[in-house]
Amino acid sequence: MSEVLYRKYRPKVFKEVVGQRPIKVTLENEIISGMLAHAYLFVGPRGTGKTTLARLFARSLNCLNRKENEAEPCNACQACQSNLNNQSLDVIEIDAASHTGVDNVRENIIANAQTPPFNQKGYKVFVIDEVHMLSKSAFNALLKTLEEPPKQVIFILATTEIHKVPETIISRCQRFDFKKIPQAEVIKRLTEIIEWEKIQIEDSVLAQIARRSEGCLRDAESLLGQIISLSSGKVTDDLVSLVLPRNNWQEIDILLEALRLNNLAAALNQIAKLIDEGVDVDTLLNDLLDYVRQTMLYKIIGSDFSLNLDDHLKEEIKKQADGFQLADLSRLLNILLNKTSNKQQSIIDQLPLELACVEFLLASTSELKIEHQTPANISNNKIEIEKNDLWKSLQNNWDHLVDLLKPLNHSISGLIKNAHPLNAGEQEIVIGCEFSFHIEQLSKPEMKQEIEEKIARILNKKIKITFEIDDDYQAHHQEFRGGSEKGVNEAVDVFGGEVL
Ligand SMILES: [Zn+2]
Repeated sequence: MSEVLYRKYRPKVFKEVVGQRPIKVTLENEIISGMLAHAYLFVGPRGTGKTTLARLFARSLNCLNRKENEAEPCNACQACQSNLNNQSLDVIEIDAASHTGVDNVRENIIANAQTPPFNQKGYKVFVIDEVHMLSKSAFNALLKTLEEPPKQVIFILATTEIHKVPETIISRCQRFDFKKIPQAEVIKRLTEIIEWEKIQIEDSVLAQIARRSEGCLRDAESLLGQIISLSSGKVTDDLVSLVLPRNNWQEIDILLEALRLNNLAAALNQIAKLIDEGVDVDTLLNDLLDYVRQTMLYKIIGSDFSLNLDDHLKEEIKKQADGFQLADLSRLLNILLNKTSNKQQSIIDQLPLELACVEFLLASTSELKIEHQTPANISNNKIEIEKNDLWKSLQNNWDHLVDLLKPLNHSISGLIKNAHPLNAGEQEIVIGCEFSFHIEQLSKPEMKQEIEEKIARILNKKIKITFEIDDDYQAHHQEFRGGSEKGVNEAVDVFGGEVL
């Protein structure tokens, strides 16, 4: 079905061809003007339209009904029809991957090129796919023909690996470099196809297909074909996940975030979780590489960098790019590349990935923070409470502050009740919290402003507040609450018995 879909919608005229606009325009102009080269070289990644354009070009040259000053073939005349059915005697397609011997080249090309085309007004067109696969002697035979090209013969050589094509051949061809198809154009094409097929598929699925196929339209159409063939009219998420590899980027973001925060335990836990869920280790490693690369590019190029991602992921990548040093991103990429290329057979599949994380954080500038993960060292990082008069005044009035905040926002007042000042300076009070999601709530500008106003009322002076995670929360909180009349155990009551 997938291949069928691809053939079914293979563009039949130039204006249907997706992408490669400069190449299309040049070829069309050459057809109209009749100023043709003897040999063309189509260079570029697979699935970007090389063969499609070669066939279309050949068909147009041989079309019996083509209008003057137009490049499009009629697709109805006998010449067009035999070309469309792969039965044309004047268009000879050779897959070099399976015809590498010099004898085959001589038989199929050199000898055949000497006889004129059946269509006397047309051309004999040889399309040699994967031309880089020809043997050295086959190239030499081909070169002889290119040096003295027979009349009405055109060669179209296509390759994905130009560096394997001899310079002597390249210099005798008009060269066209095919580009990967931009995702927007892939999505547009897939949208057309599902309209023709009368099938409804969500845009996000089409975007996912486009991203997964990485600029290769043939892959995109093939994936879409698989989805359509499996669906009985209705395309469900389950069905999509059968065909498309799982999109791990959200999970990858969590992993990268752990590395950014020097949290080795969290990073290894995230890897273990994904492996448990059945994510393939190689996929994981490749996805992480891809994600770190995107982050690095964003860090260097900034928001102008055209990420083919949805807005949410773009935000995530921006956040990562802002938080990492460029040197660390490049170091992480190097470590990951090393682990992918030197992957030895290991009993534990995820070991290389785990080692990459350990290696990255071990050499990181913030080694202290890694040791921080082991309980024995926590006391090294203990935040000492600075108890001055201002702090004591806050201690005496904390319940009052909580009461003042209650009418405004019940949960904010509860969060404040569970927090305590770590130190109180002339211009700033640092408030210690147990969890980062508490800080997230309290730091919202409108909330922060309310708390600052109430503190100003209590202390009778304007003061700035900031929030920090208190690594020694339990001890500090007990100490703080112990000084007030109410005990620490009452702290959760604010939520009517609900524990935060
Ligand atoms: Zn025709």
